[in-house]
Amino acid sequence: NRVAPCAMEEKLEPEEEEPVTHGAQPIQIVLADQDDHMFELNAVALEKILMQEQLKDLNVVVLSVAGAFRKGKSFLLDFMLRYMYSQSSESWMGGNDEPLTGFSWRGGCERETTGIQAWSEVFVVEKEDGSKVAVLLIDTQGAFDSQSTIKDCATVFALSTMISSIQVYNLSQNIQEDDLQHLQKLLFLIRDWCYPYEHKYGLAGGNRFLEHRLQVKQNQHEELQNVRKHIHSCFSSIGCFLLPHPGLKVATNPHFDGRLKDIDDEFKKELQNLVPLLLAPENLVEKEINGAKVTCRDLLEYFKAYIKIYQG
Ligand code: GDP
Ligand code: MG
Repeated sequence: NRVAPCAMEEKLEPEEEEPVTHGAQPIQIVLADQDDHMFELNAVALEKILMQEQLKDLNVVVLSVAGAFRKGKSFLLDFMLRYMYSQSSESWMGGNDEPLTGFSWRGGCERETTGIQAWSEVFVVEKEDGSKVAVLLIDTQGAFDSQSTIKDCATVFALSTMISSIQVYNLSQNIQEDDLQHLQKLLFLIRDWCYPYEHKYGLAGGNRFLEHRLQVKQNQHEELQNVRKHIHSCFSSIGCFLLPHPGLKVATNPHFDGRLKDIDDEFKKELQNLVPLLLAPENLVEKEINGAKVTCRDLLEYFKAYIKIYQG
């Protein structure tokens, strides 16, 4: 029994994996100064991203993921990138042995810079009606961790909500009372959901769970009742999606590099539904401000205006 020669060759000369990201990268567009808690916009970088000739006049879709740190936001965004780079394909999730790249994600508890990152490549997507939109993906860091002040966290959250058309509020295990306090958002994404027998994984289960959570009850404190009454007026649609735990390798193995074979099947099954729910052409939500659609060019101006609110 001899080893097939081609298999030998493959062993000797490992093939270079071609990165799916085509040289694009995360760009820090908003930076919080750790010492004086001032927020700075990298307008030059943002302009380079948004003012490209083929993009600047297209309506923009901005998807942001926000929430506590080390809860898999960047990890999720990297799957969104895979989807955007291979939309036509059923197997967008990638190969079993492909390390996950894009926005940097990792285990451990070291903190990253507080701020907002944008993916340098803006995706042009043709919608069902033939119109083209530009899709910008936004990652946030440093929100709600112990070292930054509550104000910095709230600023990153508020800013990312203001400039996004889809805010994914990434939460661990449940919705807590204070998760409803810094609100402005669309989709509550609950990671490591452990009660599938009470509410099933996915959107339908999540929405039912959220409905439950947003019920106004007589014995609730008035403030808590008010958040619940007010929340529906802040957003045109509010949803909730329950994701299962991705498995111990993902959560705890320091050598885990994101390859699919190390991720639990149940998680992958739900991920397969979640990402198109947010990013399939028919589901893309164009950014509107005061009822008007916003182009990439407009978005740059809004960014500059909004950051001023937090500099004063
Ligand atoms: P971020 O700080 O929110 O961007 O988190 P990262 O994307 O950097 O991920 C932090 C760690 O959580 C990494 O070790 C991931 O492997 C792991 N992780 C990713 N998704 C999940 C999840 O759904 N549940 C759990 N428990 N861990 C996850
Ligand atoms: Mg991150």
